[in-house]
This record gives sequence, C-alpha cells and structure tokens, in this order.
Amino acid sequence: MQKGDALRITEVIAHPLTHRLPASTQTSWGRYDRVSIMLVEVRTDTGIIGFGESLARFAPCAYAELVETALAPRLIGRDPRHIGANWELMRRALSGRAGGMLIEAIAGVDIALWDIAGKAAGQPVWRLLQGEGTRAVPVYAASVGWGDDDRAAEEEAVEFVGRGFTSLKVKIGAPVIAACRRIERIRAAVGDRVELTADANWAYDLDGAIAVGQALARNGYTWFEEPLRPEDEDGYRVLRRRCEVPLAAGESNYTLDQAAPLVTDRTLSVLQPNITRSGGITETLRMARLAAAHGVAYAPHVGMSGIICEAASLHVAAAMSNTRIMECPCSANLFKSELADLAPGAARAEGGMLAVPEGPGLGLEINFDALSRMKALALEEVA
Ligand SMILES: [Mg+2]
Repeated sequence: MQKGDALRITEVIAHPLTHRLPASTQTSWGRYDRVSIMLVEVRTDTGIIGFGESLARFAPCAYAELVETALAPRLIGRDPRHIGANWELMRRALSGRAGGMLIEAIAGVDIALWDIAGKAAGQPVWRLLQGEGTRAVPVYAASVGWGDDDRAAEEEAVEFVGRGFTSLKVKIGAPVIAACRRIERIRAAVGDRVELTADANWAYDLDGAIAVGQALARNGYTWFEEPLRPEDEDGYRVLRRRCEVPLAAGESNYTLDQAAPLVTDRTLSVLQPNITRSGGITETLRMARLAAAHGVAYAPHVGMSGIICEAASLHVAAAMSNTRIMECPCSANLFKSELADLAPGAARAEGGMLAVPEGPGLGLEINFDALSRMKALALEEVA
C-alpha cells in the first residue's frame, strides 16, 4: 500500500476459543483442566486483516458478545491506524472505572489494530514502536508447579535446566511451611548457577509473605511475585521494607492508573503486565515506559495465554530498554502450538532466548482449521 492510502475498518469479528489441557495445571489460585482466550479479527476495505488476543480465561463467549455489540459498531468505518483515538473510543463503551472484561476486550482489538498498522506499512510492529530494536529476548521457564509432591517439583526443575533454561519460576502457595521447604529443595536441586524466582498468586497475608520472603532471601531467589492480593498496595509497601527479595507484580493490572502507584514509589522492582489483559500494546507500552522512568524492570507475563500474546509481548519487549526477561510457559498449550505459526524464519526458544518475529505486523499466520475446532469447543459451553 502507498503512503496516504485510505484504510477503513469494515468488520470486527470475535472468536471465543477453548482447549482442553492434556494435563491439568495447578497454581495457588486453583486447578485448570481447560483454558479459554478470545481471538479478535479486524478486517479492512483493502483486504488487510489484523489479529489480536484477549485474556478471557472464563466465559469467553461473554467477551465475544462485548466486542461485537459494544466495540465493533464504534470502529466500523474508522482508520485502524488511529490507534490511540480508537482506544479511547472503545474505553467509552462502558462507564465507571476502567478495568475487567472491557479492558481485556479492548486489548484484543488494540493488538489487531497494531497488526494492521504493521502490515499496512510492510514493517514488523517492533519497528513501528521505534525503540531498542532488540532481536531476541531472554526468557525464563514457567513454571515448576505447586502441589504436594516435592520430589516431582524437583524433577520438573531439573528437566527445565536440562532443556537449556538458565532461569526458572517456581509456583508456591499455602501453607507457609510447605512453601519454605519447596523453596529450599528446588534451590538444592538446581544448584547456585540457575536463576530462580517464586510466584505465590496472592497466597499469603502479610505475615506469611514476610516469612516466605525470608526463605527466598536465604536461598538466593531473584524475585517474589504476587505475594499478596493486588488491591493490598499498603501491604506491598510494608513487605518491601521487611523483605530483602525484590517484589514483582503486574499481571493483575488492567490500566496504567492501576500499575502506577507501586511503580512510581519503587515498591515493585519488576513490572509484569499481560498484554492481553492490560489494554493491548498501547496501554502496556505506557506501563513499560513508566516503569523505565522509575528504574523498574519490564518482564512480560504470558501465563496460559496464546501465540498472539507471546508475539505482541516480544514486539514490545524488543522496543523497551528496561526489558529484563519474558515468561516462557512450558506446559502444552494448543493456543501456541496449533493456533498460529510465527512467520517463516522465526526461531523458537533456544538457549534461553526467544527471537522477535520479523514478518509484517505481528509476524503470525493464523491456522483457521485449529481456530474452528477451538471455537466449536468454546461454543459448546453456551449451547
Ligand atoms: Mg504470576
């Protein structure tokens, strides 16, 4: 396409998607046997199509309804490249404080708009972001699961190291005494040369978090992720003073406003937005830049999200000077292995690094057969 050419949105289609996990996965939050996301497809009058992803772990059909009834009518006929204005227009679809499903739904559309902007310009998104231009991003293996079996957890950790990872995340939970034992045993199993971090998924009260923080410090862990529920900002501030291990959080934030308090006072050392929850590329970029301005590292969260989350996170990580390391979930995930291929030439995680996609836009090719199968499973839930 030539510079100055008109480009208009003609259709916004939401695809709720579900897949069954080959093996269930457990965090302190709960056990998961199936996982859902929403894929957003934005079509234009030139034939360029963009794809985005929303975090929609539960009730994905409700997200699809929100996109198609509340967001799509606002976007039809608009230039998809006016991303900031389109974002504000979508945010006004609901009144009240911004958050929850609305911002997750906007994230999917926003990522699709960036995909279109890149394709229209013939450039990968990371180039449009005009940042560092990093070509590969360091990743850590996620995660050694939480559960009763210390021995199985040790084996899982050793297996990650055997696959070439030099940094691993360990899930911990309650009771505190079991978490402290797990922290020590995993360190003993992998030795001192592997970086370890711990993720509690809000398992503790303040006293519990202080006790676990001491065990993490004794065992040389690099960060303590979501020790407390995200609303307990004062708890995080107290913990920051009582705990030698740096604190990490951010996957539970939707907007810059929610991320800002613990970033600007440097309670957090590491900010971990999930791009498919935190308003897409546009809002996540704002968060990462705020973090950079306050000496806080950016470490993208991926969790159970899919390939579009991974690709969009890589583009932002490539642009930011404060990118520390990105999450690389290692359990089977059809939203990655089947839903899309990174464009030819893109390498997968090797030696603890993940290559940034080079193709136009996000650099992804969607597999529509897989999409149809996963959509059928999601629709079964509401049939
Ligand atoms: Mg986490």
